[in-house]
Amino acid sequence: MKHVDHVGIYPGSFDPITLGHLDIIERAAKMFDKLIVAVLINRSKSPLFSADERVKMIQMVTEHIDNVEVVSFDGLSVDFAEAMGAKVIVRGLRAVTDFEYELQMAQTNRAMRHEIDTIFLTTDLRYAYLSSSIVKEVASYGGQIDLFLPPAIVPLIEARIREKKSN
Ligand code: ADP
Repeated sequence: MKHVDHVGIYPGSFDPITLGHLDIIERAAKMFDKLIVAVLINRSKSPLFSADERVKMIQMVTEHIDNVEVVSFDGLSVDFAEAMGAKVIVRGLRAVTDFEYELQMAQTNRAMRHEIDTIFLTTDLRYAYLSSSIVKEVASYGGQIDLFLPPAIVPLIEARIREKKSN
């Protein structure tokens, strides 16, 4: 019988990737033959990093995981999942505040594509409070951000925030 790859997809903004995201990627990668990290080209929010920059940053910090592929996409996660042959969408849950939105999105996605399921990984407690927006806020006030990010990402944020302030 032909082996069909079991593909999962982890969509998000990742602006930028934090240790919380990386933990979810490492754990989810063990559950699939291939895990696609899908970076949303976000037209409504104004991101700190372009989608291409976010893809490169994630590639850089996931080099040690063989079965992870990083791509950007536009549109609905379910459409992109289908196009990539993924039957499972992975999301992370930090707190009750995530739950309502995530549940609504998972149910909407399931209504649109019955064959695609969403699974949730609960955050590692070390990262339960962590979000990209909090990190950006701390960085914008010159706070210490190395607790929250893969080391390679820290100077990139600091440089981008300096650039923004000098403009
Ligand atoms: P989105 O804009 O789609 O919410 P994010 O980049 O903020 O994108 O998050 C992508 C996914 O990762 C979401 O499911 C979010 O709940 C999850 N996530 C974000 N931060 C953490 C964290 N610290 N621990 C676990 N999951 C997280």
